[in-house]
Amino acid sequence: MSNNIRLRFAPSPTGPLHIGGLRTALYNFLISKSLGGKFIIRIEDTDRNRFDQRAEKHILDSLDWCGIIPDEGPLNGGDYGPYRQSERKENYRQRIQELIESGDAYYAFDKTDELDDQRKESEKKGETFIYNWENRKNFKNSFTLSEEEIKNLISKGDYVVRYKTYNEGEQNEIVVSDEIRGDIKVNLKLLDDKKIFKKDGMPTYHFANVVDDYEMKISHVVRGEEWLPSLALHFLLYKSFNWNPPKFAHLPLILKPTGKGKLSKRDGEKYGIPVYPITWEDSSKKFEGFREVGFENSSLINFISLIGWNPGDEKEIFSLDELIKAFDIKRIIKGGAKYDYDKAIWFNQEHLKKITSDDIYKDLEKEIDKNELVNEKKITTLISLAKERVNFKKEIFNECLNIISYAEGDILGNMKKINFTDHILKTIKGFIKSLKESKNINSVELKENYFNQLKENNIKIGDGMKSLRVMMTGKISGPDLFTILEIIKRDILIIRLEKSIKIIND
Ligand code: GLU
Repeated sequence: MSNNIRLRFAPSPTGPLHIGGLRTALYNFLISKSLGGKFIIRIEDTDRNRFDQRAEKHILDSLDWCGIIPDEGPLNGGDYGPYRQSERKENYRQRIQELIESGDAYYAFDKTDELDDQRKESEKKGETFIYNWENRKNFKNSFTLSEEEIKNLISKGDYVVRYKTYNEGEQNEIVVSDEIRGDIKVNLKLLDDKKIFKKDGMPTYHFANVVDDYEMKISHVVRGEEWLPSLALHFLLYKSFNWNPPKFAHLPLILKPTGKGKLSKRDGEKYGIPVYPITWEDSSKKFEGFREVGFENSSLINFISLIGWNPGDEKEIFSLDELIKAFDIKRIIKGGAKYDYDKAIWFNQEHLKKITSDDIYKDLEKEIDKNELVNEKKITTLISLAKERVNFKKEIFNECLNIISYAEGDILGNMKKINFTDHILKTIKGFIKSLKESKNINSVELKENYFNQLKENNIKIGDGMKSLRVMMTGKISGPDLFTILEIIKRDILIIRLEKSIKIIND
């Protein structure tokens, strides 16, 4: 099925993909898929000074790990390529000419230091320097230089192109619309004449972005709130070309764990929490990603999906497919939402619970099969117990060992903490006897048998259970005792219990 719904994620590869960018990609993906449309990745690499090949790889690898797979993009191509702006250079040149010819854009030849001087002058007066309708006639540009001079400077490539945002006497108000925030009025007199083409022959972000969104037939632009101030310029550019603008939605900020201020990569270090989907290393530091910390990709996606959106009911646990079904652009919130790491861990625990113990067993097979304490038939039962008690999949194996371990050295100390009596010791001896005699009885029967013996000897169930646990494991607490009793090989159990009796008696 094909329709006109096309959304894109358009990262600038100047740094790694952080969770804010991941959320933007995810929302674009979810909206496009929920409407039966296409999801596109476009690399916005027109800033050649800040371009970083490793960043591009980090972005694409992160999306891939998260299962946010594009229908079109730099790696898989498509009908509207190339999908890297640096490869679309010639096209922008032609488009710029159209605007220069129509008079909506003009050449400017000011030197950087000349403009810097102006900026300083303004600062001295407590004003903000802005190159616009009021003062463009004071600078070196198409309005002020002779045709000869202009030609000469253009032939040397010594120029930028600026957009003529407003002209005295024209209608100065524009209404831009945003799917999340509604209509917004903007006073054009307050905007500057943005550079749309640079000296290095590359367009600026604004120009390339609008041209590509049009040429790639993008239906919805969903991006971070930091781009809201640019929306008026983008609307004007569409108008200049006589193109219909797409729908726009600007996503709320992701806030620091404290809820105050925008989350930054420095917060990762400050709070010891991951801010990148996969690990990123720069010359001085390594920032561990969610993947390397041990998160399931599904839980990261679920966690991120709810920072800034809600389904309108109590449901919190979603798979990617469920998110596609539930997602609705209208339920994206306006205000910032905070990054709560404890919540991320909770999501991971919930997603872990959904993985079957058989599947986890496949990963652990070799390690756990070597274990001599475990009753082979009960390995998946042990995994199920461990799975409920950890934050990350990689902790399961150790938790399995922990559950079946025998902390011999702690027995005496722990015995003192509980209500242990000679009566109980006698009952446990009786229990060992039944263990020896009945190799095949299951945990339900064993439990019944032990409880009956406790009752006969007038012992409280709680005291009897605690004593048996300490003698079996050395520990005072843990998962269901009779389940562990079935997991550990029967002869090992008997050896342990007899050893514990010896320790207590000595
Ligand atoms: N390249 C821009 C960024 O990285 C894209 C913004 C947009 O989606 O329009 O934020």
